Amino acid sequence: MQDMPHNSPIRRSLLSIVAEDQPADLVVQDFGISLSTVYAARREHSSIALDMVYTPGVKRPRIDESRIDFAMAFLDEVIPVVSGRNFRKQTMTNENLYAFYFCRCLEKRKEPLSKSYFEGSILKNQNIQHSKDESVCDLCSELAALENSRTRLKEFEKDKLAKAKQHKASWYQQTGYYLKVKADMADEQDQDTALIIQDFSQLSVQGSYFQDLIVVAYFCDPEDPTTIKGQYNHFVASSPRVKNDSNFVFRTWLHLVESEFFNGFKKIVIFSDGGPKHFKTTATVTFFGVLQKRLGLPVEYHFFESNHGHSVCDTVAAHAKKALNVEQRDSRYAIKNTDEIVTVLEKVKNHYAEVALAQEQEESPEFVTFKGIRSMRKFTFDDDTVYGFKSSTDTECSHWWTMDTKYFDDFE
Ligand SMILES: [Zn+2]
Repeated sequence: MQDMPHNSPIRRSLLSIVAEDQPADLVVQDFGISLSTVYAARREHSSIALDMVYTPGVKRPRIDESRIDFAMAFLDEVIPVVSGRNFRKQTMTNENLYAFYFCRCLEKRKEPLSKSYFEGSILKNQNIQHSKDESVCDLCSELAALENSRTRLKEFEKDKLAKAKQHKASWYQQTGYYLKVKADMADEQDQDTALIIQDFSQLSVQGSYFQDLIVVAYFCDPEDPTTIKGQYNHFVASSPRVKNDSNFVFRTWLHLVESEFFNGFKKIVIFSDGGPKHFKTTATVTFFGVLQKRLGLPVEYHFFESNHGHSVCDTVAAHAKKALNVEQRDSRYAIKNTDEIVTVLEKVKNHYAEVALAQEQEESPEFVTFKGIRSMRKFTFDDDTVYGFKSSTDTECSHWWTMDTKYFDDFE
């Protein structure tokens, strides 16, 4: 945090989050900032976004048209008007929709509208049909319920409240850090970084499901380093019997290394959700330590807060599913196997597809679990050690473990 520029919007919102509810002296130690900064951040905390647009002495801040246009463009993308109808369908809560909008503003370097303006003047004037969100976050809805509770909270409810607040702070922190990595790349500070987001999806053809490991790579355009390019890669299982396990991840990444995917980069920063079967596991974390050695490049692995990952992989998966449906409808041909899936996906702009090298019934490796691994959100490596951090913004590790890399010795 102390390395961020003082006028960075991300620094300010991160500060408000970490300064809330934590002993001030710890915040000072953890983030290397002064006590007066912590107190100032606390005073400001009432609303992160309102504070950002607040100018003393101006009673009625005038809102710049371009900010409203940006908010409308955001709505058109995220909750578009249903085709042929006159309403938008909203499945997210207003809280989540605003958080999503706020993060998008940070990403695109736009000043966000305040939450009350966004809800009261933008959303209110739209014809919106609310429907139940299947992906609604339990912890966030619990937080809202406890915060709005009119009765005195019992002890166990206070514990729940603290946990839910921590969850929300982590969500903002991890997403904020991801956006900072991307912003630093575009600022030419970290031009040689490859930023990777990975997630599993399932592609359904003729009633069979094929696992698809989606690897999105962001990197600076060599022609114009202030522009970040995205490349969307699919690694599709060779049969419906291939599972989305750790081995799938290892085989895919080794293949990426062999195909010189990372040549020319100086650092690899990976983000994913905490997938308990294949991503945030001792085996996978150890694998990335081994990968760092093989590549001779620093590798960092970060995890989004649960239920609040990045939506890019979902979007990529949706493009793939649509392409498969359109192809089958137009050609009246039923796609049956991986080779046919790959052929269709390859036709989508900026998408690349390959058959994944993972095999059916490959034996799952057995590792002695790193104690405490589940509560970590960042991992870094050196020769034989894995360092775990509770937050991506932490500079001091919370745990470290010695890697047992024998399993990967004869991995080719
Ligand atoms: Zn949540």
